[in-house]
Amino acid sequence: MDSEQLREHGHKMVDFIADYYKNIENFPVLSQVEPGYLRKLLPDSAPVQPESLESVLEDVQTKILPGVTHWQSPDYFAYFPSNSSVAGFLGEMLSGGINMVGFSWITSPAATELEMIVLDWLANLLKLPSDFLSKGPGGGAIQGTASEALLVVLLAARDKVLREVGKDALGRLVVYGSDQTHSSLLKACQIAGIHPENCRLLRTDTYNEYALSPESLTDAISHDVASGLIPLFLCATIGTTSSTAVDPLLALGKITKRYGIWFHVDAAYAGSACICPEYRHHLNGVEEADSFNMNCHKWFLTNFDCSALWIKDRSALIQALSTTPEFLKNKASQEGTVVDYKDWQIPLGRRFRSLKLWMVLRLYGVENLQSYIRNHINLAKKFEDLVAQDPRFEIVATRTFSLVCFRLLPANKNEEYVNKVNRELLDAVNSSGKIFISHTVLSGKYVLRFVVGAPLTEERHVIGAWKLFQEAASTFIEN
Ligand code: PLP
Repeated sequence: MDSEQLREHGHKMVDFIADYYKNIENFPVLSQVEPGYLRKLLPDSAPVQPESLESVLEDVQTKILPGVTHWQSPDYFAYFPSNSSVAGFLGEMLSGGINMVGFSWITSPAATELEMIVLDWLANLLKLPSDFLSKGPGGGAIQGTASEALLVVLLAARDKVLREVGKDALGRLVVYGSDQTHSSLLKACQIAGIHPENCRLLRTDTYNEYALSPESLTDAISHDVASGLIPLFLCATIGTTSSTAVDPLLALGKITKRYGIWFHVDAAYAGSACICPEYRHHLNGVEEADSFNMNCHKWFLTNFDCSALWIKDRSALIQALSTTPEFLKNKASQEGTVVDYKDWQIPLGRRFRSLKLWMVLRLYGVENLQSYIRNHINLAKKFEDLVAQDPRFEIVATRTFSLVCFRLLPANKNEEYVNKVNRELLDAVNSSGKIFISHTVLSGKYVLRFVVGAPLTEERHVIGAWKLFQEAASTFIEN
């Protein structure tokens, strides 16, 4: 590492990235390349002699960026957002610069301690119960993704129960969620050895606005207990992926307590909104939870990846995931006075991710973060109002945060036909390159999902997107 070369190249790279953001609106939001495009453009083998940064950046501009879908574009309204920000980027840069591997406290005490402090800050911002703070038997840890967070807590819950009832009971363990729970629950069950038939994705409907009903959970549990099965784990969601439904935490939590079930709350997207007092009520009942997760890399201005997980009983996690080979033993760990995050996650190595979250919290401050969320929700409301005023469209699910679920309703109301028209409408707007949205299916209806959450999105982008839908709708309705 030559520090002068880093200085020179680093400045050029920052200029390149700053120009990327300056011109981001000029790119088609959804990449328009065909599969395999890049192999035709790049050589078959690595260069034998070094090349210049200029020639690499030239290739990035002409060959890589055309194959990028621009998640940071202000016209990106698909899936859920994946925020970047100046503070998040600077934190990433610093973490990459220091480039330590903080698996145990001793490998970089600041990395472990900053992570504990920053997750305590965030837990307090969300008004999580004090059992989630690092001062007691619980605490927080940054995982790469919500899927990893879910997997590690499922493993903790599984092993805790198997210690009590014996390992042979694995085939009798049952996991609960709803048909709106993110697919990471099924994946976690696959990895954890939960029998696929014992993963109950309970039906939701329009009546409950796609939230999990406590009655259906109680019915399923009673049935399972009567059949000799062992209820293990419930994953409830605040802000489901399809429609941002909110499961009733308090009622669900009481049921889990009655049956000794591990209660996990997935607030991957909507957790960010709960730093605003007016949205915090969605977390009422989180006191009942054993673990809680929010992706700071979705809607909290923190560059990917940064998924905050809190757990009330960290010993359950550590018992499931700890290994201590001779080469990792050290005085601090042996004395039990420190946290070794290697025991809270799947991999050994871990990045200094708390730096970027710390920088986001410090460089923006809570008030700005709250206004940031409120602005997006207001823009989503604006879009919802525009949709509601046009009789050719219908809103399909109640908007709770910054997602609007809607569809075009042609004169021919045959469901298959309506679905086909909306699929074509989605393809038309996305292939225009002007915006990017995604879809879902709710109660058999093909639904367009419009999420406001990219940091650069302003009212003019939302209005521009709506005009695009109106123009496209005219062609579909006339034909
Ligand atoms: N949970 C919910 C509610 C989600 O919407 C998502 C992704 O969008 C996930 C979990 C999975 O997130 P990750 O990619 O961090 O695993």
